[in-house]
Amino acid sequence: MQTDLSNIRNIGIMAHIDAGKTTVTERVLFYTGASHRIGEVDQGSTVMDWMPQEQERGITITAASTTCFWKGCRINVIDTPGHVDFTIEVERSLRVLDGAIAVFTAVEGVQPQSETVWRQADRYGVPRLAFINKMDRTGADFQAAVETIRQRLGANAVAYQIPVGAAESFRGVVDLVRMVQIDWPDGHNFVERPIAEDLAAEAEVARELLVDAVGSEDEEVLSAYVETGTVSEEILHRATRRLVIARKIIPVFCGAAFRNRGVQPLLDAVVNYLPSPLDMPAVQGGDPNNESRKVVRNASVDEPFCALAFKVMSDPFVGSLTYLRVYSGEIAVGQVALNPRTGKRERLQKLLQMHANKREEVQSAGAGTIVAVASLKNVGTGDTLCDQKAPIVLESMTVPEPVIWMAIEPKTKADEEKMVGALSRLADEDPTFRVRFDKDSGQTIIAGMGELHLDIIRDRLDREFRVSCQVGRPQVAYRETIGREGVGTGVFHRMAGGKMQSAEVRVRLAPAERGAGTTVSETLSGALIPRECIAAAVLGAREATERGALAGFSMVDVVCQVQSGVYTEGESTDMAFRVAASMAVQDAATKAEPVLLEPIMRVEISAPEEYTGAVLGDLSGRRGVVDRRESRGGMQVVEAEVPLAAMFGYATDLRSATQGRASFSMQFDKYAEVPAQVAQEVIRRYRGY
Ligand code: GDP
Repeated sequence: MQTDLSNIRNIGIMAHIDAGKTTVTERVLFYTGASHRIGEVDQGSTVMDWMPQEQERGITITAASTTCFWKGCRINVIDTPGHVDFTIEVERSLRVLDGAIAVFTAVEGVQPQSETVWRQADRYGVPRLAFINKMDRTGADFQAAVETIRQRLGANAVAYQIPVGAAESFRGVVDLVRMVQIDWPDGHNFVERPIAEDLAAEAEVARELLVDAVGSEDEEVLSAYVETGTVSEEILHRATRRLVIARKIIPVFCGAAFRNRGVQPLLDAVVNYLPSPLDMPAVQGGDPNNESRKVVRNASVDEPFCALAFKVMSDPFVGSLTYLRVYSGEIAVGQVALNPRTGKRERLQKLLQMHANKREEVQSAGAGTIVAVASLKNVGTGDTLCDQKAPIVLESMTVPEPVIWMAIEPKTKADEEKMVGALSRLADEDPTFRVRFDKDSGQTIIAGMGELHLDIIRDRLDREFRVSCQVGRPQVAYRETIGREGVGTGVFHRMAGGKMQSAEVRVRLAPAERGAGTTVSETLSGALIPRECIAAAVLGAREATERGALAGFSMVDVVCQVQSGVYTEGESTDMAFRVAASMAVQDAATKAEPVLLEPIMRVEISAPEEYTGAVLGDLSGRRGVVDRRESRGGMQVVEAEVPLAAMFGYATDLRSATQGRASFSMQFDKYAEVPAQVAQEVIRRYRGY
């Protein structure tokens, strides 16, 4: 099946929670005819948010992808969650989409989560449009919102529309490229009319600004302006498309999705300005048989097939579903693709075009498309699938480490096995969710990105896997690191099985930059110590870094070097080397000023002015550091860094301190050293856990 790739748009919609991403998506599906009714978030009936938990909580969790058509273009909307506990969902969506709409609200403008997602999108080089939603709300201010995009995100935001009215009187927009007014008198249909007299002057000025902004980046616009004193619609469209794709401007649109205003022109902008797969640079990857060789694939069905599995989910109807973004070539039902990570061949039995929670079988999928494959067993999130004759490994995505954990156990002992199986399936789907068995306490431990994340997991165990579980109190995932260099020695010398076993290993630990992770290497001379023993020493050292010297939390940001060892013929075994190396790391760590680290959250609280004192007082009691305060729409907005350990129960406390009139959001920011006094207490509590 040959498709014209220039008519495909793979887009995502990203936003701070509650900015209206789901509502915008619903309207997009409605106007493109992909859904026949309007879903309302507040009534729990949306098309995209289809997991029962999502409908009850009114949030978007899974990155479902859905297809719709607008003006001859096929638009694949990849849903990105607004809640930051699901940051991996954002990462994986950004990894595979070609362009995005960033939704902001007309009252708050840029909020911290939208800032986070914006930076992630920068990292992946995603071209964007901005949509200022909720123009109908009291306090809506389009220009102020555009300004926050410029100031806080440092983006070259250019208004492509101005609103007609604001708050209660908001009824439409002026299209500054075509210089027409678009009104939505009632319901879904809009009418185009000449710009109202009282807006004409403002619209002229705004268009001048637009032409200025585009002209200063684009030759064609500049010369048209210099020659004729004006710039045609067509030239502006062309130039805008170039500049958006080059990420030089962010065109800004506005509306009120909930009131069905502003969505159709936004869809026009997606078609006109966001890139098709052909506009994106060719994908790069490595040759699995030769690590140093780079391989490039152009977006074309004539190239060998390659695709990235960006999401694996278990589906109540078809079992496992693997979402693929196809970058090059084409694959048909029944064909075989190679998974270079496992070296296994996978037969693609069933290809599905996903439409939120409905699906349509298709016979093939070519470059540029997004397709789901049913029942692939050995393909994980981030794996590449490719033509066996032309292997390639595509770059995967960044997976953050969990910051919170808790013990979990089934309500009835008989469910133990079922629970373990279900947890491991959930971990396959979601790389930020981890499961481990703690030998010392005999408990199963689950870890994730926040309380909500783990709560949803427990809920899914109950509903989808029919295992009722109870969980312990949520605990902070502390880490350990070292403050300076340390050298340690491990000597293993013991009778085992009637035979003396011995080995000696010396290890050097050095601090690495925060966020660098832990690396283990060796400089043992291969001539004197057998290779198996060296490998065993490296393994032992690595295992030891997973248990820090203070309270057994895993060590991060450490460079560990296995420096030397003593091998005794007839006595030294792999096992002896492994244990000796582990002892050496423990020894080195105690000498290297071990330090406890804790996750620090970025918290934004919005409360009526009269509660500012209460909010700030409470934050300082939580070791919070306030780094921004401002008034927005009659509310005081406070931004602070607060240790996660001090944030449990915050929702309840804030509610009672402000009579329920404040709201807050929080997200993981970084790991930082725990102050000495607090550290003592944490170590006492967890030592030997
Ligand atoms: P998401 O969390 O970004 O997906 O946001 P939702 O789409 O769930 O919307 C959050 C809330 O804002 C819901 O109560 C919506 O009904 C409401 N909302 C969405 N768009 C608008 C709008 O244009 N105007 C107003 N007044 N409310 C809106």
